[in-house]
Amino acid sequence: MITSVDIKSMSVSECRAFFASLGEPAFRADQTLEWLYRARLSSYASMTNLPIRLRQLLAEATPIRPSEAIAKVRSTDGTRKYLVGLADGNAVETVLMPHDYGLSLCVSSQVGCAMGCSFCASGIGGLVRSLECSEMIDQILAVSNDVGNERVSSVVMMGSGEPLANYENVLKFIKLINWDRGFGIGYRHITVSTCGILPGIRKLSGEGLPITLSVSLHAPDDDTRTAIMKINRTYPVKELVNACSEYAEITGRRVTYEYSLISGVNDSSDHAAMLAALIRGTLCHVNLIRLNPVAETGLERSSADAAERFGKILRTSGIETTIRREMGADIDAACGQLRRRWLREGGSLGSDCDHTV
Ligand code: SAH
Repeated sequence: MITSVDIKSMSVSECRAFFASLGEPAFRADQTLEWLYRARLSSYASMTNLPIRLRQLLAEATPIRPSEAIAKVRSTDGTRKYLVGLADGNAVETVLMPHDYGLSLCVSSQVGCAMGCSFCASGIGGLVRSLECSEMIDQILAVSNDVGNERVSSVVMMGSGEPLANYENVLKFIKLINWDRGFGIGYRHITVSTCGILPGIRKLSGEGLPITLSVSLHAPDDDTRTAIMKINRTYPVKELVNACSEYAEITGRRVTYEYSLISGVNDSSDHAAMLAALIRGTLCHVNLIRLNPVAETGLERSSADAAERFGKILRTSGIETTIRREMGADIDAACGQLRRRWLREGGSLGSDCDHTV
């Protein structure tokens, strides 16, 4: 089981305090974390600059749980989706996307999700539980072990779960992966995506971290948004956009609005014009993506033409907009689809899946 002395759930300062409790100086903690996250060793025995006595002590006091991908699917476009096994028998998805600027990893923050957005596969079975920091770290390690020398250089918290509903663990994870002697992932290369939990956004504004905030907007008005995202009943869209503008003002960082185009639901010219009016003049960027259809939801993706038309209206209104390339469409790209298949098929995933990773 995951315990409070799981080394991968310790911040750097918590780890130094833990080492102090063992009578060890802080630099030993730093050396150990460097082995874990920079050299990606999975056993203390090979941490050759630590005294042998300390290696043995650590193996007993805080054993390193293996970071295990239990299945892998590879898309024709290079995207790789992994199912990472957790100690309690659950599993979460993580998706590796090769870009020309490096490897980007889409990390899950929870098993399942409580938010219940109508188009999303992650929320279909509800929330199982939040992930520990170590279980987010394990997603990076499991993938890194698979890809060898190439380094994960950016992280997006866009896997299953709502990161701001697991705030403390997500923040600890972000700070830990930024640590320059470990993974060394720059804050500017870390994105937190939220369905719009206002208190979390406000809290994040005060952290002083130059990370990117991405907000899943998906509709410009309360009627449309409430119909597809129940969080909108608690935090209506205008208040959400105001909180995002504040975030941008406080941090100087441009907010990204995610907008998944669903045929006949949120993709009309009127929706585009309303969206433009809502966010015009704020420091932001819109990412349009055509919905990845999830069989259970009955919702369909907009046509490529509808996406072009929508994007054009935004751009004409002076709003920076990109139409996102759909990656991994052939491997159940939408959040939570691979885990659902795994649950449905009783822990096996058919012949297109590599179980031997
Ligand atoms: N809970 C967070 C992060 C996880 S979802 C959030 O809501 O932002 C990552 C992104 O994928 C979100 O923008 C989400 O709305 C979107 N998404 C979920 N299911 C999708 C689907 N079937 N097609 C397209 N985008 C989807």
